[in-house]
Amino acid sequence: MDYQQPDASGHFGRYGGSFISETLTYAINELKDAYAKYQHDPDFLAEFKYELAHYVGRPSPVYHAARTSRELGGAQIYLKREDLNHTGAHKINNVIGQAMLARRMGKPRIIAETGAGQHGVATATICARYGLECVVYMGSEDVKRQSPNVYRMKLLGATVVPVESGSKTLKDALNEAMRDWVANVDNTFYIIGTVAGPHPYPMMVRDFQSVIGQECLKQMPEMLAAQGIAAQQPDAVIACVGGGSNAMGIFHPYIPYEKTRLIGVEAAGEGLDTGKHSASLQRGSSGVLHGNRTYILQDDNGQITET
Ligand SMILES: *Cc1c(COP(=O)(O)O)cnc(C)c1O
Repeated sequence: MDYQQPDASGHFGRYGGSFISETLTYAINELKDAYAKYQHDPDFLAEFKYELAHYVGRPSPVYHAARTSRELGGAQIYLKREDLNHTGAHKINNVIGQAMLARRMGKPRIIAETGAGQHGVATATICARYGLECVVYMGSEDVKRQSPNVYRMKLLGATVVPVESGSKTLKDALNEAMRDWVANVDNTFYIIGTVAGPHPYPMMVRDFQSVIGQECLKQMPEMLAAQGIAAQQPDAVIACVGGGSNAMGIFHPYIPYEKTRLIGVEAAGEGLDTGKHSASLQRGSSGVLHGNRTYILQDDNGQITET
């Protein structure tokens, strides 16, 4: 299906693309070429699969949440247990893929941005494993709020840089990481943690995270058959949407399954009409942020508003 792949300029329809400064063009082209070279490379894919099985601990189980299903009284609910991956979230699937690319591109220094710290911890962990230098940008507000993850990153040998600009949170950390990348393109690989950033990042992150949905496609028929349920696949797949990586990872392989509804859930905060939420898909509008066109929360002057 065509719409599942970006066009030559990295757009999915109107969205995506590559809105970058001239100083990043070289780095982005280098990355595009490297990903095009390794994306279907049997050795690369075999190593990725090996790492996911033996380092991350995949496949993650599908678990029937029987009591929750009973309590809620409606659908039977199954959980894809990405929390059981090494480092405790889905982030590591993507980090391994990008770190493997960095090694092949000969980049000894890794930078990353992090909000709650899960992507930072996954990146610090893989850098320790592969012997790469690791610098993690984190809004100073998040550094305070998420101190256990800061401690973990430092323990793993990463440098955590508190970002004092803007709202001192994730978007500011991403800006700062971009600045670092511009200044250090020769030896640095930027591992973005979600489906954001200029092309090819969103496609790459989606591809690496698709292992979640691919496993579900195999696990659900087995689970349902064992329970004597006739269906092969769930009626709906539901994922929380922050930056979109776990959602894309589970949704993407399900796109051809037309009977399965794909439902993304955004955080409504104090309510969608209060202006205090983080529902950029529901209440945002089209704009360019962090190198791609997407839905953003912005004011009338195009300034990004706080989530
Ligand atoms: C990072 C993270 C999210 C949100 O990020 P997505 O890119 O939308 O997946 C949600 N839950 C957990 C546990 C995370 O680590």
